[in-house]
Amino acid sequence: MTARMSESLHAGATSLVLPAHEGLYYGGAWHAPHAGRYVDVHSPGDGSCIGRAAVGDASDVDAAVAAARHGFAVWRDTPPLERARVLRAAAVEMRRHAADLAMLDAADCGNPVAEMAGDVMVAAALFEFFAGLVTEMKGASIPMGPDAIDFTVREPVGVVARIVAFNHPFMFAAGKMAAPLAAGNAVIIKPPEQAPLSSLRLAEIVGGLFPPGVVSILNGGRDVGEALVSHPGVAMLGLVGSIPTGRAVARGAGDRIKPMLLELGGKNALIAYPDVDPDALAAAAVAGMNFTWCGQSCGSTSRLFLHEHLYDAVIERIAHRCKAFVPGLPTDPKTTMGAIISQAQHARVMAYIASAHEQGARLVHGGKVPDDPALANGYYIEPTVFADVDPSMRIAQEEIFGPVLSIIKWRDEAQMLAEVNALDYGLTCAIWTNDLEKGMRTASRVSAGFVWINEVGKHFLGAPFGGMKQSGMGREECLGEMLSFTQEKNIHVSLRRVAAQP
Ligand code: NAD
Repeated sequence: MTARMSESLHAGATSLVLPAHEGLYYGGAWHAPHAGRYVDVHSPGDGSCIGRAAVGDASDVDAAVAAARHGFAVWRDTPPLERARVLRAAAVEMRRHAADLAMLDAADCGNPVAEMAGDVMVAAALFEFFAGLVTEMKGASIPMGPDAIDFTVREPVGVVARIVAFNHPFMFAAGKMAAPLAAGNAVIIKPPEQAPLSSLRLAEIVGGLFPPGVVSILNGGRDVGEALVSHPGVAMLGLVGSIPTGRAVARGAGDRIKPMLLELGGKNALIAYPDVDPDALAAAAVAGMNFTWCGQSCGSTSRLFLHEHLYDAVIERIAHRCKAFVPGLPTDPKTTMGAIISQAQHARVMAYIASAHEQGARLVHGGKVPDDPALANGYYIEPTVFADVDPSMRIAQEEIFGPVLSIIKWRDEAQMLAEVNALDYGLTCAIWTNDLEKGMRTASRVSAGFVWINEVGKHFLGAPFGGMKQSGMGREECLGEMLSFTQEKNIHVSLRRVAAQP
């Protein structure tokens, strides 16, 4: 495998540690896929083959779910503080391998290596955070008078399947395990088919810390996801993915009345009031686009509603700041902006850029495939900014999941708010103003699950993240995420004597 890797991928970078296994991990062991299918994994950075991964199918899901049910029987009875100890040990192992995992994800998904150790740290922090919450899986007592005791307990749901997206492969595969594991569930992760390698390393690094069956990694495509959704042995589902996939998962879950958490797409607004410093605003608009990973982030504020008084001054500054993002090889530590995940996604983003030209938006920056010959075999697009975007244009309406910022001019607040809320998406919204009263009023009017005032892009452990409307259901990164993987049971104890009279 290593021999097939291109030289350019290694240039000036830490060596790439590939997973030693290619198969499926369940029941505490590695298994070949029943159908014997594997795919070559290519780097979006230079098109080279960097490894292989198994492609599971429904029969592999059957075997993994059976093993996970055994694991669940052990893990649910493991005392909470012992579960917490294991979660913390897993966090230590992840941190120990952060540099290697960052390089692997960079090669596999195209995000710059300099940033990807941060993803590993977030995953480790999630393990530690939920380890600290294990004793918060509390019930309540319900007053019944002197003749009875009534109380609730929270129990884990069983086997949880979490299906995740490609934009932060390790952070999602690892981080999404933490809450259900803390609550005593067994977890099966379905990694993204575009970037499966760091999930294999995840199993290698932490799998052995858990009783067999508690943690499973099942690589594959939509088939594996669908089989997990419909499997009677899977009690609950989590998806990080697109809205169409969310609908498919919700339909399947409905057939079996399964609870689910859906973290779906966004077409998020940054609302700029005229009282803000243009430099600060330009910095926020660019930061909110996540150009580092080519805008491939559900929370990207890809619609900038810019007040007419600031319009020209901020646009000029945004164009200037975009120059800091230069597409480069993801595995080069100096790279500030990586590659798009796949050829298909690259073509999709370029089609959106073409539609913007056709529909009359004004290109302010980027818009092209870079001409650097070193990047010729990868999937790169310059950071792209369009101004004079009309809310009816496709680039203002649809999630592009690429490095394209749409700037919309506004003057009437009511009309602007109507346009912000007009879409079916409702994930994040950033509001920038020095008038906190106005900021709070606007926050209460926008349909978004996560609102920043004078901040952008950041997640905070403990602060619930999730979408309104079509952007999803349920909240993550908080106590509520862990509790959502539990079910409440009421126990009523009558104090009436039931012993037979002598
Ligand atoms: P996707 O929906 O195509 O795939 C996500 C996962 O679902 C993959 O593992 C895929 O194999 C699986 N899948 C696809 N069809 C399925 C089906 N019918 N049943 C079960 N599983 C199925 O999404 P993507 O292209 O990998 O990721 C990009 C999308 O994810 C964007 O819309 C983005 O906004 C969203 N996303 C949301 C969040 C969030 O927290 N809200 C975070 C990251 C990404």
